[in-house]
Amino acid sequence: MARAGARPRVITRFAPSPTGPLHLGHAYAALVAERLAAGHGGRFLVRIDDLDQSRSRPAWEAQIFDDLHWLGLDWPVPVRRQSDHPAEYASALGHLTEMGLTYPCRCTRRDIDAAASAPQEGAPEFGPDGRIYPGTCRARPMAERGPTDAIRLDMARAAARLTGDPGFDEIGPGFAGRHRLSAEDLITSIGDIVLARRDMGASYHLGVVVDDAAQGVSHVTRGEDLFEATRIHVLLQHLLGLPTPVYHHHALIRDETGKRLAKRDDARAIATYRAEGLGPADLRAMLPEISSSAP
Ligand code: GLU
Repeated sequence: MARAGARPRVITRFAPSPTGPLHLGHAYAALVAERLAAGHGGRFLVRIDDLDQSRSRPAWEAQIFDDLHWLGLDWPVPVRRQSDHPAEYASALGHLTEMGLTYPCRCTRRDIDAAASAPQEGAPEFGPDGRIYPGTCRARPMAERGPTDAIRLDMARAAARLTGDPGFDEIGPGFAGRHRLSAEDLITSIGDIVLARRDMGASYHLGVVVDDAAQGVSHVTRGEDLFEATRIHVLLQHLLGLPTPVYHHHALIRDETGKRLAKRDDARAIATYRAEGLGPADLRAMLPEISSSAP
């Protein structure tokens, strides 16, 4: 039996952003995380990803907790809320800056689109962080950061810091196996990602890496749409000296037309099903079967 208070071997999390109602896809994601933890005597956490304060609302957060409890889930409280930890993200950003890997960027989306309008033949235009940044501001020193500038990671410099054989183990059925990072691939297919914005102390990528490490998350379960972004996270873990969890990217729940569900898709919101009188078992029956196995 595990010692009281000892950290279990398997810690998973469900990390919704409180920007709209949870729908069937979120129910599935939460259950995948909870099943994996439960199957190993582990711990399932809920985290509130509210870095984007312009879109986050306390009312959505309350609804999220209510829907998850209704589904039958339980988790330790208080939960981690990103907006409570600005100093941790600033410290990670400061670390990358001390390493000489960051620069301030004043490009608007329109500037980037215009500068990137003639990409090299064969080179990808978009990566997991959006349009691959053409490098316009790359030579600017951090001391020149203006109040509206974003901060980017100089990917070529960052990739040059890779040592050993960094990569991650994936246990999701679609991508199972070991995935290695390659410097060339990081530079050409991801590029200089945004680490912070004027109104956001950390981008999603920096936030998720700091949070998962702070919470000791051992197995990151999430939708397969984030599979490509995982290389960014593993790189940041490597640069910041943080452990790399095991990853499990699961299938996305789609509507009849094959389109993935979105927050605005109120028809499939858990709250809508609840209002129609369905119970948690009915909702679970609408989802694919979930296995609780993990290595
Ligand atoms: N807040 C993120 C989302 O809702 C979490 C993604 C992740 O699990 O890394 O997509």
